[in-house]
Amino acid sequence: MKHNIRFGPAGNPLTFSGQTINVCDYIHELGLEAYEYQATYGVRIQKQSGLKLAENARKNDVRVSMHAPYYINLAAQKEDVLKRSIARLVQSARAAEWMGAYRIVFHPGFYTNYSPQEALKRCKNSITKLMEDLDSGGMKNFIFAPETTGKRSQLGDLDEIIDICQSFDHFAPTIDFAHLHARGRGSIKDIDDYHKILGKLEEELGGGRHEDESLHCHFTRIEYTDAGERKHHMLTEQEYGPPLEPLLEALIEGGWNATIICETPLLEQDALLMQKTYQNMVK
Ligand SMILES: [Zn+2]
Repeated sequence: MKHNIRFGPAGNPLTFSGQTINVCDYIHELGLEAYEYQATYGVRIQKQSGLKLAENARKNDVRVSMHAPYYINLAAQKEDVLKRSIARLVQSARAAEWMGAYRIVFHPGFYTNYSPQEALKRCKNSITKLMEDLDSGGMKNFIFAPETTGKRSQLGDLDEIIDICQSFDHFAPTIDFAHLHARGRGSIKDIDDYHKILGKLEEELGGGRHEDESLHCHFTRIEYTDAGERKHHMLTEQEYGPPLEPLLEALIEGGWNATIICETPLLEQDALLMQKTYQNMVK
């Protein structure tokens, strides 16, 4: 069975001190193959830098994704919040195109006073507007990747993310397994739990099998409360879930192409540890 899993850090490696446009030289030197650019506090990169980053990533065969700003709520009550959220995603799409990012990761928003169904409906209405804006701006080359979110107050359980991705072209999921685990108050215990998630994705969305259809994933150990995620932990802190090996096993068994972005506090160090675990399993 054909499978290919790439690993990389969420943001610049902790041991990297150069310019971001050259970060993929360093990631490649480390032996990693993916990088998630963090625009979580605003899209600040300029066109020239974006293009240079893309060139540098191509040269080093590093797969780039981009994390859009946190301050997005596509289900907000207030019209100005919706407008700003949509504008941030338009900005993100433009920057993602410059830097050749194959996915634009974002958190869809919050339920606030709405029922989950109402919030989802509002979110989808906003995405319809977003797509109109991108279309009138002549933009075609982007894939948004709404992420499974870690707090129970946030829109974005697995079914909602699947629903959004089924509803629009240019959409594919980001599966943050730690977030699913935290939302589910420790719901991922073994390979069967991963089979259930991956099986559902395959059934509902297909894909993930071709080079350009890599399943985009986030992974970290996570601490949670009743409300969901609380804190990210290092990979070696095994008292926190979710477990890594059964995930890799399930991906390998299913022949998935995947990109796993490491979101532990150790970024590249733990990305390398994940990669080593994977390599030992396929040897
Ligand atoms: Zn995220």
